[in-house]
Amino acid sequence: MNDTTTEGESASTSAPSFAPFVCAESPALGTEAHKGEGKILLAAPRGYCAGVDRAVDVVEKALDLYGAPVYVRKEIVHNKYVVESLTKRGAVFVQEVDEIPEGARVVFSAHGVSPHVHDRAEARQLASIDATCPLVTKVHREAVRFAKEDYDIILVGHQGHEEVEGTFGEAPAHIQVVGTPDEVDQIEVRDPSRVVWISQTTLSVDETRETVARLRRRFPQLIDPPSDDICYATQNRQVAVKTIAPQVDVMIVVGSANSSNSVRLVEVALEAGAGCAHRVDVAAELQESWFHGASVVGLTSGASVPEILVCEVVHWLQARGFPKVEEVRTQTETTTFALPRNLRAELAAHGLADARPHAPRKAGPDHTH
Ligand code: SF4
Repeated sequence: MNDTTTEGESASTSAPSFAPFVCAESPALGTEAHKGEGKILLAAPRGYCAGVDRAVDVVEKALDLYGAPVYVRKEIVHNKYVVESLTKRGAVFVQEVDEIPEGARVVFSAHGVSPHVHDRAEARQLASIDATCPLVTKVHREAVRFAKEDYDIILVGHQGHEEVEGTFGEAPAHIQVVGTPDEVDQIEVRDPSRVVWISQTTLSVDETRETVARLRRRFPQLIDPPSDDICYATQNRQVAVKTIAPQVDVMIVVGSANSSNSVRLVEVALEAGAGCAHRVDVAAELQESWFHGASVVGLTSGASVPEILVCEVVHWLQARGFPKVEEVRTQTETTTFALPRNLRAELAAHGLADARPHAPRKAGPDHTH
């Protein structure tokens, strides 16, 4: 099994399925009798994707194996709650590898790092574990290959996002970053017949399509990436939100402000017809005024959000006139990724399990505020 093995693929369902909802993370939540006529439509898939699940598992297993501290460059995934939980267990989050004591152990986040960061880590003799999502690594490889073939590469993505910085760093002399369709007009290339586009994995599918259409108008011979760079999890969560959005008065997206895919879900919900949409990190940020006059609330969560945070929002809404919960599933996901090779070897050497998928994650003492 290599680092990018997927055990199963996303399976489509021909039509959305509907099911009552019980919080698997905390079945006791929301069991009280609640009054009201309001309904919650819960999008599925939502929450943890395979890359986030693996990255969090990497830090947890590294803590089990080596003990604290385990240094992590940047947020392992873009979710406050996850970062706080892992900090309580002994993970130390830093911005750059230069902040880490020489010879210590570092985990690189799910968003990926540029070769320069790997070089800096090596210069400091850090023992690194790379939790970059295999689907981000795939985009890095595309960048390297197209740069070797001397193409001009247009990287569609958000300037300043860690994933974009990492991919850009693979071939800075060949890559230009384009954030919006309007930015396409500013691009200059050496040879319009040798231009290729790649993208960040967590973009809005529709906006990216628009950006690429603009690129193609300017460069008719534009070359597509070999396969979709926007990952399965991003696409599936957007499809689920689009399906319920026309039926909801208010859409709530659970996710952090720096989570690209969570922010995109708010935009997608609004574009697909939700009356209004709000992003919150936790239930405590919800405001009662958002739900005045609403009868149906849509609910989803970004790819880095633990399910317990969704359960808490469900519970909050149930206590405020939205007792019924219906899960609307548009896709069933079965993708998992193997742990990084060096971590697997170390776990095996210490007789510790490296099996994936691991047993379902439970909210416990490590996952409390
Ligand atoms: S959102 Fe997609 S690319 Fe990002 S970690 Fe999850 S599966 Fe990987």
